[in-house]
Amino acid sequence: MTNETWGQVREELIKRVGKHNYATWIEPLKLSQLKNGVARFEVPTIFFGDWVQRNYADHIRSQLTSAGASVDRVEFTVGTAPVVTRAAATGAAKPAPKATRARAAEEELPGAPLDARFTFDSFVVGKPNELAHAAARRVAEGGPVTFNPLFLYGGVGLGKTHLMHAIAHELQARHPELRVLYLSAEQFMYRFVQALRDRQVMDFKELFRSVDVLMVDDVQFIAGKDSTQEEFFHTFNALVDANKQIVISADRAPGEIKDLEERIKSRLQCGLVVDLHPTDYELRLGILQQKVDFYRNQYRGLALADGVLEFLAHRITTNVRVLEGALTRLFAFASLVGREITLDLAQDCLADILRSSDRKLSIEEIQRKVAEHYNVRLSDLIGPKRLRTIARPRQVAMYLSKQLTPRSLPEIGRRFGGRDHTTIMHGVRKIEELMTTDSQLSDDLQLLRRLLQG
Ligand code: ADP
Ligand code: MG
Repeated sequence: MTNETWGQVREELIKRVGKHNYATWIEPLKLSQLKNGVARFEVPTIFFGDWVQRNYADHIRSQLTSAGASVDRVEFTVGTAPVVTRAAATGAAKPAPKATRARAAEEELPGAPLDARFTFDSFVVGKPNELAHAAARRVAEGGPVTFNPLFLYGGVGLGKTHLMHAIAHELQARHPELRVLYLSAEQFMYRFVQALRDRQVMDFKELFRSVDVLMVDDVQFIAGKDSTQEEFFHTFNALVDANKQIVISADRAPGEIKDLEERIKSRLQCGLVVDLHPTDYELRLGILQQKVDFYRNQYRGLALADGVLEFLAHRITTNVRVLEGALTRLFAFASLVGREITLDLAQDCLADILRSSDRKLSIEEIQRKVAEHYNVRLSDLIGPKRLRTIARPRQVAMYLSKQLTPRSLPEIGRRFGGRDHTTIMHGVRKIEELMTTDSQLSDDLQLLRRLLQG
């Protein structure tokens, strides 16, 4: 057996494992010895050898054997030290070299800092976030992995990041020995690109695969970013295989993220997928009451009139971040001018927020979002084409216009290229009818509604 034969075997392996895997895992292997049925390769790191052993050793062995080399065992060495793989580390085998593992653990995790305020204690639970909260609590116990990943999704400002940080805080308090890594998908990509540039992809892989709990926030960000997706997929699989907990968040359900590879979507759906619903009045009021307790301490002696919190909870329905911002501003303003916080003061001081919360959704916005969602041209959506691929989205837009705006049927008809009000009524009815039987359609409607109402 010569290196030339190994060259031929490598050609075969490209076909077996795919170009990408080949370039990452097979190409760097150096055949250092082949005798007595043992093929020995040099690898750059312990992690690398471990990974190749578990995933590609069988391929390599069978290809070498078909090339006439009769190999029973494939071994990997870093320099001259043999790699003890997890699979082989049973019985009399030595444990993995401590030094390397420990060094990886001492390295600073490339995560994002945690916000000290985002704890379970400060998270107000209500109907819309009940399930998400319960699932997050379960993960934070740090017990055996029961669902993987936990996938949290929902519109902006509904508490996804808050819950993820709360999980991290709790885990750190209960299990300080666990390596918990929290970061945004954007940071994940940034680190990956940096590692590519600095030729440190192996270190990157090693680091991400060495954590016990991985949390990636706003994963929709990697949609359409091919190499980052690929890397994320491998990291994800490696951790799931090793029974490590993963928590992911996104602004929509896995199946609704455009330009995300199918295999990633389906892996994301394998665990527990929970959505944070838009807040309801009770939850908003609860959140305000909790924050007020905090402000009362900070601004002692500031009076708050009855009904102000109820007014805010009623009027500011966009998201919790806006709600909090309103309260902060209100207290700061009142303390500055030394006045009691009354309804009048609130209306004055928050005029802009209240106005934008009041902002009516327009038919044009609905048409634009629907066209975008179904990937049809806006002009076609409004125009006369009768193709089903356009007619159905058009009816969806009609239905949503009726539901989400106060416009009359003739008014809506006018915005849909001057159609008759009976056409609009027919479209609305059609969707109402289909909605009950077509689950894809009802998912679409739910998503569009959420996107439009933010
Ligand atoms: P998301 O990540 O979903 O966009 P965040 O977690 O950043 O939203 O939440 C936005 C703000 O609203 C944060 O300051 C967070 O503390 C607060 N918030 C959201 N939901 C709740 C809740 N249920 N209880 C208390 N604060 C909340
Ligand atoms: Mg967030």
